[in-house]
Amino acid sequence: APAPATNFLRHIVEADLASGRYAGKRWAGHPGPASVQNGAPPDPARIRTRFPPEPNGYLHIGHAKSISLNFGLARDYGGVCHMRLDDTNPEKEERRYVDGIVDAVHWLGYDWKAYGTEHYYHASDYFGFMYEAAEALVQAGLAYVDEQSAEEMRATRGTLTEPGANSAWRDRPVGESLQRLRDMRAGKLPDGAMALRAKIDMASPNINLRDPVLYRIRHAEHHRTGNTWCIYPMYTYAHPIEDALEGITHSICTLEFEDQRPFYDWLLNNLADLGLLARPLPRQHEFARLNLTYIVTSKRKLLQLVKEGHVDGWDDPRMPTLVGLRRRGYTPEAIQLLCERTGASKSDSWIDYGLLEQSLRDDLDPRAPRAVAVLRPLKLVITNYPEGQSEECSAPRHPHHEEMGRRSFPFGRELWIEADDFAETPPKGFFRLYPGNQVRLKYGYVIRCTGCTKDADGKVVEVQAEYLPDTKSGTPGADSVKVKGNITWLSAAAAVPAEVRLYDRLFTDPQPAAGDKDFLAFLNPNSVEVVQAFVEPGTDASPGVSYQFERFGYFVADRELSTPAAPVFNRTTTLRDSWGK
Ligand code: ATP
Ligand code: MG
Ligand code: MG
Repeated sequence: APAPATNFLRHIVEADLASGRYAGKRWAGHPGPASVQNGAPPDPARIRTRFPPEPNGYLHIGHAKSISLNFGLARDYGGVCHMRLDDTNPEKEERRYVDGIVDAVHWLGYDWKAYGTEHYYHASDYFGFMYEAAEALVQAGLAYVDEQSAEEMRATRGTLTEPGANSAWRDRPVGESLQRLRDMRAGKLPDGAMALRAKIDMASPNINLRDPVLYRIRHAEHHRTGNTWCIYPMYTYAHPIEDALEGITHSICTLEFEDQRPFYDWLLNNLADLGLLARPLPRQHEFARLNLTYIVTSKRKLLQLVKEGHVDGWDDPRMPTLVGLRRRGYTPEAIQLLCERTGASKSDSWIDYGLLEQSLRDDLDPRAPRAVAVLRPLKLVITNYPEGQSEECSAPRHPHHEEMGRRSFPFGRELWIEADDFAETPPKGFFRLYPGNQVRLKYGYVIRCTGCTKDADGKVVEVQAEYLPDTKSGTPGADSVKVKGNITWLSAAAAVPAEVRLYDRLFTDPQPAAGDKDFLAFLNPNSVEVVQAFVEPGTDASPGVSYQFERFGYFVADRELSTPAAPVFNRTTTLRDSWGK
């Protein structure tokens, strides 16, 4: 495989490795989890990254970007990437989301086994350490318990131009804060009664340094720790500690966390000074999140789509979740390709959804077998072909890969063709079937259209034609008659009925959730059309099998619903980008 394109993150890693920043006795006495501390730590000069999703929903295409960067850096520089469930917010988190996340990362082709250890962690494993660290911060005069309400704290935080105001509790004696913190921990206080805050600077130009909250009271059951805790750490407090305990070297996150970096460093440096963490400490680096047009990637909005029934679940093939994309027919390779092609950048931008579709085409074009499908069937009768007779036609499974072999399917008197391949009165430039015109039935004979039959409403229900006996594809006479049109078809007797779901974009607006737009107003009313189609005999409709249906694009047998006896195919993408054209 070609070397991945370089980017600023790779430059940072290379510089850190070259300078020996991570060499030395890094792991001795490290208070991290046992597998980091004792479990045959890898060469201390190795980099460590982590992918730290919160288990409050299923992963989406944006997460794939983070997965690809974090696991990719570890792979390319001989390091380790930790899989970490950032489960510090019990009310929103669920066991099934944990399972979904683990499956999705595996599906993308990554695992976290490195140097003999499974690097699989939960933030909740560090709740004990986090609490000890909180007491240490209080004792060092670096944190205090504030008895203002959340509302009061918000009101005294100041603005971008105005400094905040000190809380009346800010300078209370250390012993008093400590006692209050222990009361919080012991469950003596209701939710929201007080909170632990860092003591930094209420006048800092960076609002994130205006005494951020470290712990809040939440009498909530946690899916792993149960009711052991009734106080939970804030993300901004928990995350740097998780990184440090695991010996993470490069903590990569999206740009909106740039303003959090000073607090990240403040916290870790103080805990290291207090002897609770080992140096060198992890460093945070920010990259631009992946923004794809025509989708939304906020988990809250995705949950809303599911809950309100705008889609049929997290794995609806129109969802930008990894389970949805998989069901739609996207391959892990195509998603990797998108991640590589979009690189890592320092400034936010929008990536055209078409780039994802193109990545799928580039992945599947060389390897997906070809087959014929007739999506909107219209009966064609070859009036000069004997009833009850049939013969085989043959085609390559792949036009450029003879080694994939050939397929064959019968030709007979009654065929299915695509309804819009026939026009009783052809528009200008129409080269397909119309009375008097000749076309080639792909892989079969040249035929001449002789007429059609209509129902009472004037709708064409059958087309008639005669075949030219010496013109069969692959025989010496094939080129004796020149035609401008070439159409696909299936034998009516042999074609396999299949339900085909023609998916389109879920939103009609390229940035449905930008600014304060109401994304639901841009739902595409035609995001799916279900047709009763036919597919070539011999098509494998086992769940997850992909084909290129000639002329129409890439399709996958639905993983939930398709069976060989009752095939269901999803259109993954068309052959060309035809959106809006
Ligand atoms: P959401 O805002 O949808 O809830 P999140 O960012 O809060 O998503 P997490 O579970 O915390 O979701 O994310 C795990 C990791 O994935 C984080 O490091 C986050 O920065 C990264 N990530 C999430 N969305 C994107 C994106 N669109 N592009 C790149 N990385 C992303
Ligand atoms: Mg988050
Ligand atoms: Mg977010």
